[in-house]
Amino acid sequence: MPGTVKSEAVVLRSIRYGEADRILHLYSVNRGRIGAIAKGARRPKSRFGGRLEPFFRLDLVLHEGRGELLTVTNVATVDGYPRLRSSGPALGAGARACDAVLRLLDSAEANRPAYNLLCRYLALLDDPTMERAAALETALSFRLKLALAAGFAPELVSCAHCGEAEHLAGFSGAAGGAVCSSCEAGSFPLSEAAHGFMVEAVAKPLAEAPRAGERELRQVERAVGETLEHHAHVQLRPAA
Ligand SMILES: [Zn+2]
Repeated sequence: MPGTVKSEAVVLRSIRYGEADRILHLYSVNRGRIGAIAKGARRPKSRFGGRLEPFFRLDLVLHEGRGELLTVTNVATVDGYPRLRSSGPALGAGARACDAVLRLLDSAEANRPAYNLLCRYLALLDDPTMERAAALETALSFRLKLALAAGFAPELVSCAHCGEAEHLAGFSGAAGGAVCSSCEAGSFPLSEAAHGFMVEAVAKPLAEAPRAGERELRQVERAVGETLEHHAHVQLRPAA
C-alpha cells in the first residue's frame, strides 16, 4: 500500500546512483532496515544538502510505493556528529559499527535497543572528552552489546555445552559460549581476563567499557566473531 513513512534513522551507507541520485541503506527506529532512494541528491542545489552521508542521524519522511526502495521526500538533521568526521580513528570505528549493523540487522523489524546503541556509539565517537571511544575495548563492547540486541549474545555464565558453572576454560562459537574443560574439544582457549571483559562489557554502559590487554581483546573479538558466524551466519570485519 503506497503511503508516507516517517522515522528517525541513521545512514549506514550512501551510494551514488545514476546521474544525480543516491541510494541509502538506513537503520531506522520504526522499521529497522530501510532501503531508500534520494532523487537529485547530488545536484548542487539539492534540498537534501550534504546530510545523506554515512553516520548522519536524520528525521526522515519517505514515500512508500510498490517498489523495493522508498523515496526520500523530506530530511531534517538530528545529529551530524561533526567531530567524528574530523578524526581518522573515530571515522574508522564508526564505519565498522555501521558495517556491523548492516550485516547483522538486515530485517525490516524495529529494534530499539540496537538503534539506541548505534546512536550512543556515534555520540561517544563524536565526544572530544571520550578519549577511549575509538579504542578496541569500546569497539568490542559495542559488538557484544549489538550481538545481545540482535539476539545472539554468547553464553558466559555456565558451559554452553553442558551447563557446568565451574572450570570454564575455552570458548566455542558452535556451542555459542564459554565451555568447561570437559567440553573444550573444538574450542579455543579463553583466558579469565577475556571472559571477565565480556561479562563486564555486557553489564556496563558503553562509555565505561572495561580495560584489557591486546591478547585478551583478540580472544574477545574471536569469541564474538565465531558466535555470530555460527548462529547469525554473519561475518564481521576486523574490529580495528
Ligand atoms: Zn561443559
